[in-house]
Amino acid sequence: MKTVITIPELQQALAVLERPHGFVPTMGYLHEGHLSLVRRARQENATVVVSIFANPTQFGPDEDLDSYPRDIDQDLELLSGARADLVWIPSVQVMYPDGFQSWVEVEALTKVLEGAYRPTHFRGVTTVVAKLFNAVGPERAYFGQKDAQQAAVLKQMVRDLNFQVKMVICPIVREPDGLAMSSRNTYLTVEERQAALCLSRGLSKAQEAFQEGIQDAELLRDIVRKEIDQEELAELQYVSCADPETLQELDGHVERCLVSMAVYVGRTRLIDNRLLGS
Ligand code: AMP
Repeated sequence: MKTVITIPELQQALAVLERPHGFVPTMGYLHEGHLSLVRRARQENATVVVSIFANPTQFGPDEDLDSYPRDIDQDLELLSGARADLVWIPSVQVMYPDGFQSWVEVEALTKVLEGAYRPTHFRGVTTVVAKLFNAVGPERAYFGQKDAQQAAVLKQMVRDLNFQVKMVICPIVREPDGLAMSSRNTYLTVEERQAALCLSRGLSKAQEAFQEGIQDAELLRDIVRKEIDQEELAELQYVSCADPETLQELDGHVERCLVSMAVYVGRTRLIDNRLLGS
């Protein structure tokens, strides 16, 4: 496994690696969720490329860029174990050299859900992923359903701007007790870690209700709301029952929907979601 920092180093390394190339962008502090993407890329491509870059432009001014967990040595060990071929770890200066002033923006899809609370987040995500795609030029790119809106926004960007990459969206990997894996789980105290189970519990209750025929958007949102409200250490920021493609909020009877939420557990902001219906 080779590690590179600059774009010329990256391109020199890519030139001798057999195609197709599968690409997994990450912000590091890797866990089984990330590794599931790497393994899927390993199955489907001759070469697996992973990037590690905690992208400053997708963090708001009051968000956790400075405290975002990092452990490059551990990440490289995990990636080597998952048989990645090439790891690109650009510096901020490589990605955003002095004078940088171009941005990629997706419109309607970024105004709702996460975008409503993190107004500059998706502009940072789409810009950095466009730059990563341009530099790596992969046949396939792997993203997690954990960040459902991010996946929808990036698929839209790829369609709108003719990126020649196939987007592969992989299922959410959870801890045995249901908590969706996230680098941010490391911020949780023991009590908060227990309290954080209210997210997956709320989604499971919504799913059970849906399967029993409670296919009403407001009732499904209520089920999640109630579950979060019962947890003292948790505070719901939003719960949504939306169209999985347009992400527009639904009302009344639903056949298919994306139930998603953001919850503060202590000072840590967690997100989770589940697709309901076929
Ligand atoms: P991040 O390092 O948080 O930017 O995540 C990098 C990629 O891993 C994104 O496509 C995420 O959606 C995906 N990912 C993060 N956590 C999980 C998880 N628990 N299950 C599946 N994919 C995940």
